[in-house]
Amino acid sequence: MNNLDIEKINDQFYVIRIKGCNIGVCIKNKSALIIDSGFLPKKSALVKKILEENFNSKIKLLFNTHYHSDHTFGNQSFECPILASETCKNIMKENLTTFWTPLEIKKDMEEDTLLSEEWENLKITFPTMTFKNKKTYNFKGIRVIFQRLGGHTKGSSIAYFPDYGLIFSGDIVFGEIYPILLYDGNPLKLVKALQKITGMDVDIIIPGHGTTCDKSMVGMLVEYWQSLISGCKKLIVSDLNNEEIKGILVNRCHLQGVPMNMRRHRINIGSVLKFFRGFST
Ligand SMILES: [Zn+2]
Repeated sequence: MNNLDIEKINDQFYVIRIKGCNIGVCIKNKSALIIDSGFLPKKSALVKKILEENFNSKIKLLFNTHYHSDHTFGNQSFECPILASETCKNIMKENLTTFWTPLEIKKDMEEDTLLSEEWENLKITFPTMTFKNKKTYNFKGIRVIFQRLGGHTKGSSIAYFPDYGLIFSGDIVFGEIYPILLYDGNPLKLVKALQKITGMDVDIIIPGHGTTCDKSMVGMLVEYWQSLISGCKKLIVSDLNNEEIKGILVNRCHLQGVPMNMRRHRINIGSVLKFFRGFST
């Protein structure tokens, strides 16, 4: 189907994978609810086309799990109401004067030919509806609970479908691949968010990136982040500087059960250190 990678979970739920990003779909009565919009507006426009032409469904709502560009820069292609946490929307607005200025966007485009094509007519499109911490929503008779858990970013939220035991987790969970936490993440809140998911009545987890998974992946992620947090804390009090700590932890505290990604592990060490030190070096 137009070369898009589509995974059918069941009659109601699908995942469309575009360049490593998962776009979630819930379909009911010729209507679609979309979870995240990817970072490539032209490719995301294909999602809309396929849902309309192949699934005979009109998109009624788009939900952004968090503000990162790989989840929101496709927003302009959906032409429907957009829901996100209030924090997510606020950060998006702030970014217009920091990381998403025309100059910064231009720099990214110059470095990447795919982005230069895809962001040609980029129009950063904000959520039109927000919730503070939690919102219950009725989508054509399907109960959805949107809930802000934070961790990966301050506004990170999940879409929980309690009657299906299913959640779209955004980047709180990565499926069978190394996770990544950037400077804007909070490792302690991330562990709390993962533990919250562990306590939920959920069998199917559709992450922001990677494969559809279940709570066993969440358990592995909790162990990883906890070991990285305790590793960093122990070495910080031993008076080592960040470079020395990184040198030690690159060989330790690895996520078990998934292929090693040293680049991401290094970034994660840096982000956890920054969080506890209050600065990065
Ligand atoms: Zn992401």
